Amino acid sequence: MRKQIAAANWKMNLTLQQAEQLTDELLAAGISLKEDQLAIFGVPFPYITKIREKLEGTSRLYVAAQNCSANKNGAYTGEVSAEMLNSIGLKYVIIGHSERREYNHEDNALLAKKVDIAFENGLQPIFCCGEPLQIRETETQNTYVETQLNESLFHLSAEQMKNFIIAYEPIWAIGTGRTASNEQAQEMHAHIRQVLASKYGAEIADTVSILYGGSVKAANAKDIFGQPDVDGGLVGGASLIATEFAAIIASLK
Ligand code: PEP
Repeated sequence: MRKQIAAANWKMNLTLQQAEQLTDELLAAGISLKEDQLAIFGVPFPYITKIREKLEGTSRLYVAAQNCSANKNGAYTGEVSAEMLNSIGLKYVIIGHSERREYNHEDNALLAKKVDIAFENGLQPIFCCGEPLQIRETETQNTYVETQLNESLFHLSAEQMKNFIIAYEPIWAIGTGRTASNEQAQEMHAHIRQVLASKYGAEIADTVSILYGGSVKAANAKDIFGQPDVDGGLVGGASLIATEFAAIIASLK
């Protein structure tokens, strides 16, 4: 059974004190996760260790970094390597968020390198893909997303693809309050799984958790997560409000 995952992306928000308070509030909300469910918090680099400490003794709650460098180490001022993240005991890293693609000019080839270096350092990537509005308007989103997967992921072995995590995030739905319809989400998730199946076989494709991202909130999470190929969500804005994110976690199937 593939994992159902509620992943938070705090982006560049919150002071340390606010981040600690949010974590305390979430823990106080009495989140309960079944065996095949996880919650992962994508927190800013400086808070990773602190928030991990807060989650000690809990089960099925993890911290992720929001990015890592494509380079191993060296003269890359301001960058954080996968090796560094591994050395502090981290297990997950978000790779290829559309904001990094846009503002940091990260392309599919660079993201392939990041995925590789994450694996080399024992990190599981949460790989983001998704189309901008003009692509959706020309109804070419399936080919667009397929190219993203092909150029960044399809050099991976079947072993690496097993239990992989992909977040499908249509850019026009991120932070806009405009969510993909249940049908649009299911259609793309099924397409992604079919593309994975044709490359790696149906058995491997079935193990991949495909999360939906784009204005998920407590009010719509249950419907979206209820779609057969939607295995949870990557959540920005609503993950900054404890009651909202607790309800989103409770909406996992
Ligand atoms: C995101 O940042 O990945 C995201 C989906 O943001 P939001 O939930 O705010 O749309």
